[in-house]
Amino acid sequence: MAEIIQQWQYLGRVHPELLEDKVFEHCQKSGITSLQSYLYWAEIEKEPGKIDFSSYDILVEKLKKHNLKWVPFFILGPNYATPKWFQELDECVYAKCLEHKKESKIQSIWNPFLPKWVDRFLKILSEHYQDKSVLESICLGISGNWGESIYPVEGGFYKNFHSHQGWWCGDKYAVQDFKKYIIKKYNSIGELNTAWKTDFSSFELINFPNLRYFYPLSREIYKFIPFFLRPGVKFIYNLVKNNSKTRAAAKGEEEDLSSLAKEIKDITGQQQWLDFTEWYTVSMTNWAEFWLKTARKYFPDSEIYLVAGGNGNPMLGADFSAQTKIAAKYKGGIRITNQTDDYSYSFTFARLISSASKFYGSYFTTEEVWINKPERVMMRIFDVITSGAKGFYCKNIIGTGRDYCTKKNFSAGEPTKGAEILSKNLHYFQLSKPIVKAAVFFPNTSIAFEPLILDLLYKQCAKLRDVLDFDLLDENMIRDGALEKYQYLLVLKGEIPEGEVSEKIKNWTKKGGVLSSDPKIIASDIDNEYDRVYATRFADKIMYYNANDFEVRKKVGSKFIKIEGNSIKIEQNKL
Ligand SMILES: [Zn+2]
Repeated sequence: MAEIIQQWQYLGRVHPELLEDKVFEHCQKSGITSLQSYLYWAEIEKEPGKIDFSSYDILVEKLKKHNLKWVPFFILGPNYATPKWFQELDECVYAKCLEHKKESKIQSIWNPFLPKWVDRFLKILSEHYQDKSVLESICLGISGNWGESIYPVEGGFYKNFHSHQGWWCGDKYAVQDFKKYIIKKYNSIGELNTAWKTDFSSFELINFPNLRYFYPLSREIYKFIPFFLRPGVKFIYNLVKNNSKTRAAAKGEEEDLSSLAKEIKDITGQQQWLDFTEWYTVSMTNWAEFWLKTARKYFPDSEIYLVAGGNGNPMLGADFSAQTKIAAKYKGGIRITNQTDDYSYSFTFARLISSASKFYGSYFTTEEVWINKPERVMMRIFDVITSGAKGFYCKNIIGTGRDYCTKKNFSAGEPTKGAEILSKNLHYFQLSKPIVKAAVFFPNTSIAFEPLILDLLYKQCAKLRDVLDFDLLDENMIRDGALEKYQYLLVLKGEIPEGEVSEKIKNWTKKGGVLSSDPKIIASDIDNEYDRVYATRFADKIMYYNANDFEVRKKVGSKFIKIEGNSIKIEQNKL
């Protein structure tokens, strides 16, 4: 049975209307299997040593009574998650950005005092919930504004501190760790100077490279401009923006990126930058590993999810396939939090996690970024089944009142249109594993140099999904041997780096693998029209989803099929 998780409790106590018996009955009826609470350190230990779970136990009792499960999201890292008394200790070390040398209120993942507090937090949780049968799974909130396995970004429950997408490694412990990492990588300062084309006289003197890119602060400033002035400001901003070639590419326009490509090819001269981005993402993966390992120690039999977010830009710190691989090592999984109302982009953003999860033997669930429209629950169901996910998390099957982040209001305790759609379509969750023979190359190295490539790649992937179901395959996975499972590898953006990745691809083509930049070489007999009807093949069936709000008549092979708007249809595989 799929895990269908509904958000229930953010900060503080549960909304009183969400504790009424009839509301849990609505959950049961719709097909929801569990409810999620943000369970953060500050809420259970307001004074040092005085542990109080009353904010959560009231809900847990109700869940047991109604035979529903619970998904607590254990958070220690973001500003609201650490108790006030801890924030006053010397052991509180905030992440500091390189751009402005300013601190956020989110813990630095290099804070050397933090691991013991995390261990203690998870131990307290495990002791309190000795009867773990109520847990459907646990989620780990290790960093980010919301607990994700990423660095600080914009947004959050309380945005009363310095926070933006950026390079959050400005604290002294981060700098020390970078030096340690580099010393381990290079045997001598001479070797380092050759690789970096620098002339440092000792390892002690090395530092971060000049930042090649950072998040434009203009987007932040825009928020503070009064509404009535915004149209004019936007017009001027767009004028300036359109004059910049690189910025225009960010909009997804097909620009001539040849100069960029040349620069990327010269990787040998850019080793310092590559080492820096590698260390930056490896640090987050290591921090995730510490949490997973500790959580596994205290929750030996529970399902454990790391919560990954963003789009895979190294500046955010989440190397999706590396995090999936490390989760698998501890029999854990990934909650990927980047779904929208648009299927093609939801598919694209989550596909690397889906592909890595299949390959490394992990598992995953999906989560919407903000709050999706209730009728799009249909799309989430299709996505779960066709991506091989274990389930999905949403905020809109039962209304939970005013949403903290989007300020949208769904009346508390009332089932939405999403509840109706879910209950009517639960039977689809019994399909077997999807069959995917084509993969699109995810060029980590090129992206590390120029993250705009990521925007262009995603745009192409979203479009391609309309006629082809495919996986995303990154350089980590190719090095680990994942290509063997595929017939086709499409390189749509970026370069294949020389060395191991290139060698693996060459060997695979010798054995019959097809490498191309043209998706048209792959014949699609189940869907060949750009009509926002999406198809996935299973061993004996084909599943279609019509993302339009109107009926579509579609030619498949020699026959026509009709699919109602926003609905799923199953056809036999042999048409
Ligand atoms: Zn800053």
